[in-house]
Amino acid sequence: MRDIRERFWAKVSGPDERGCRNWTASLLTNGGGAFFVDGKTLPAGRVAYELEVGPIPAGMRVTRRCRNKLCVNPRHLVVTDHGWLGPIHHAHSTKREERRLT
Ligand SMILES: [Zn+2]
Repeated sequence: MRDIRERFWAKVSGPDERGCRNWTASLLTNGGGAFFVDGKTLPAGRVAYELEVGPIPAGMRVTRRCRNKLCVNPRHLVVTDHGWLGPIHHAHSTKREERRLT
């Protein structure tokens, strides 16, 4: 798995000013990144998510809160069972800092 991870991130540039890490290798017909592994072509966003976050439940899709098709930054990837997330107003509220002084 470590080899796959190195191979994957070697094809990624950035982060750019929005924090996006853009795929620089082959593309799928839908415009997203294509990553070849074990003779299969996988969407780069899904690979990034599985490498850095965890398995994607069956039937779920990976979308991007930054709306950048080439972006594979795991922090921009969202797993959803819906193709369209709608406007996101709280992108910055996902990181909650709870400080408890006891
Ligand atoms: Zn992004």
